[in-house]
Amino acid sequence: MAAEVISARGVKVDVYDSMPSVGRKFLMAGKSGLNITHSETFEQFVSRYGKRQAQIEPLLKKFGPDQLRQWVHGLGIETFVGTSGRVFPVGMKASPLLRAWLKHLTDSHVTFYLHHKWRGWNADQSLRFETPAGDKALNPEATVLALGGGSWSRLGSDGMWVRWLEQAGTQIEPLKPSNCGFDVAWTPQFRERFDGHPIKSVVLSFGSFRQQGEFIVTKEGVEGGLIYTASAMIRDEISTQGKAIISLDMAPDRSLEWLAEKLSKPRGSRTIASHLEKTVGIKGVKAGLLHEFLPKEDFAKVERLSFFIKNLPISLIAPRPLDEAISTAGGVMFESLDENLMIRSMPGVFCAGEMLDWEAPTGGYLLTACFASGYTAGTGVLKWLDA
Ligand SMILES: Cc1cc2nc3c(=O)[nH]c(=O)nc-3n(C[C@H](O)[C@H](O)[C@H](O)COP(=O)(O)OP(=O)(O)OC[C@H]3O[C@@H](n4cnc5c(N)ncnc54)[C@H](O)[C@@H]3O)c2cc1C
Repeated sequence: MAAEVISARGVKVDVYDSMPSVGRKFLMAGKSGLNITHSETFEQFVSRYGKRQAQIEPLLKKFGPDQLRQWVHGLGIETFVGTSGRVFPVGMKASPLLRAWLKHLTDSHVTFYLHHKWRGWNADQSLRFETPAGDKALNPEATVLALGGGSWSRLGSDGMWVRWLEQAGTQIEPLKPSNCGFDVAWTPQFRERFDGHPIKSVVLSFGSFRQQGEFIVTKEGVEGGLIYTASAMIRDEISTQGKAIISLDMAPDRSLEWLAEKLSKPRGSRTIASHLEKTVGIKGVKAGLLHEFLPKEDFAKVERLSFFIKNLPISLIAPRPLDEAISTAGGVMFESLDENLMIRSMPGVFCAGEMLDWEAPTGGYLLTACFASGYTAGTGVLKWLDA
């Protein structure tokens, strides 16, 4: 996006990427439906950036969700609003959009150099690149670093830039997993039986967080939409308390009283599993969770069983590693940057995208803030060149 803004003024832009092709994470984001932005009100939208709302809001005011949709339309691709308010390109995929975008950039005389790994600065302040043809030093008039976070490193963003920026005196908040899964100490029996099973239509409560949705049981623990949405709070609690206990309501449409009344019906010769299924519809992985966490004798106590169906505590003991996360928290601190996202101690060097110190849930907020920061960095470069 920075390249687009700068080249639109006729300034020559070169883009360097370590990978054999560009936009690999963008393409990956399109695999399960490219959620480019969200259609909710601007006030709601900016609130999704939590602690960094004050820093992200000015960027979104210049290039926000509406401008992003217009930009996609400008590349010849229509968008639509899904039932949840999320915005997708028609066709849901990233590849047609990336193709149209790269053509537009190439037509604007942006040149792409692949297999170019940036390795920091040389002693003379030139940019140092490792290429298949050996090291290369470059002295551009301005530089935009948009190196991504530290997750899914096989797609290119490996977070190695942290050390070079730190050496150059930039303040970096350590990279942490965001929109990530968590480890749970499942018993081997539960893990074996339920790995990969979705847990649908449950309400997850954690502190002030309360939301209905679904997630997936994995060998190591839990992952998926509902967990990702709460993941920043859960991650921070684990880092201070050593664990985070979430509470699950596995029958959100039923009251405690309704459950107790149904479960009080005589069980007769039915097994507990069949009684749970027949009376209150709890079966499969939900029943498995009760067996995993409740002592056997509690299954005979209607009040306790009903209570735990609606308030099942699950202890999450560690976030999954950064490389597995959807996105990265931490990064270049806004205190190190001016309002144009230029590094204060390195005039002419700008930063954009996920490498900045912000995080947001899934819902199109990640890409939108990446585009918005690229736009600001691009206009910042033009101002810098003018000056
Ligand atoms: C599975 C998955 C699904 C996602 N789905 C969505 C979604 O639907 N909606 C949404 O909003 N967000 C989604 N995201 C997040 C979104 O894709 C990222 O936030 C976004 O791509 C970050 O953009 P970026 O340009 O900052 O970094 P990246 O897209 O990571 O790009 C960074 C680029 O820098 C290059 N690079 C890194 N280091 C160097 C170096 N030293 N030298 C040269 N080049 C280097 C990399 O090769 C890469 O091309 C998803 C992420 C994942 C993993």
